[in-house]
Amino acid sequence: IKEEGRNEYQVFRHSLKEGVKEQMQLETELHKALQHQDFELFFQPQYDLKTNRITGFEALCRWFHDDLGVIPPDRFIPLAEKTGLILELGDWVIYEACRQNKLWQDQGMPKVKVSVNLSAKQFLRRQLVDRVRHILDETGLEPQYLEIEITETMAMSNERYIIDTLHQFEKLGVQVALDDFGTGYSSLQYLSQFPLNKIKIDRSFIQNQSKQNVAIVKSIIHLSHALNLKVIAEGVETEDDLKFLLTEQCDEVQGFYFSKPIPAQSVQGFIDV
Ligand code: C2E
Ligand code: CA
Ligand code: CA
Ligand code: CA
Repeated sequence: IKEEGRNEYQVFRHSLKEGVKEQMQLETELHKALQHQDFELFFQPQYDLKTNRITGFEALCRWFHDDLGVIPPDRFIPLAEKTGLILELGDWVIYEACRQNKLWQDQGMPKVKVSVNLSAKQFLRRQLVDRVRHILDETGLEPQYLEIEITETMAMSNERYIIDTLHQFEKLGVQVALDDFGTGYSSLQYLSQFPLNKIKIDRSFIQNQSKQNVAIVKSIIHLSHALNLKVIAEGVETEDDLKFLLTEQCDEVQGFYFSKPIPAQSVQGFIDV
């Protein structure tokens, strides 16, 4: 038994060390990837339930590594945040999303929004609004076709600064959506002091339709509407999910039931012009 215990300990120590080594390797790779531009944005459509039309696309970052293949954002975004590389990566994501959306418009596609995820570090950087203004100027995209997504957790820290920054975005004409709503324990009443355009119901509430979750989704939709906010549900995977959201008069939907995130060149054939 003692032997076994020791082995387990060694296995544990070994895997801990491996884990650290792996993280460090990944960090080095992340630096290189930024230099070599090994990132690409994929786009997932969002639909208006009243008109059945696409209202926009969420831009989601993908890392294509020569040896490791596609590395999902859940693995590299937290690392990029920890190391500060998210600032450079985040700038690229905003620029690339705006550039791509303007290109689609120039090619005659109906004008839709592109949504970009922002991390807390990016948002707390002083010149964020100026950077976004500059990117809009440079790409020629009109501000109403850009939406930024911030998370509920971000909105709960640094309240004053966040509200002030959101007011600047409002003045600029950029849309703001609150991502992953329902996971951060804040109330919509509290959030009503934030200048937001849209609430994104976290997909965990859509995917597990327990009695409790159904009640939560209903109340989020009702309260959002009372506060003049649009509501989008993410993680819509089945027809049943869709029916439920239609009944509850959710405004927009996004999820695998309609489409996975797709590369930019696949978007063209996706919208009927
Ligand atoms: P998120 O912002 O909540 O993005 C939605 C995630 O849900 C995406 O995962 C998307 O592929 C996935 N998804 C969409 N529909 C469905 C569905 O019907 N079922 C299920 N199970 N999943 C669905 P993805 O692309 O792997 O991104 C994961 C997270 O990584 C994102 O969550 C976001 O927090 C972060 N992320 C991705 N790109 C960026 C970026 O450019 N910047 C920052 N800061 N974060 C990013
Ligand atoms: Ca998002
Ligand atoms: Ca989300
Ligand atoms: Ca998220």
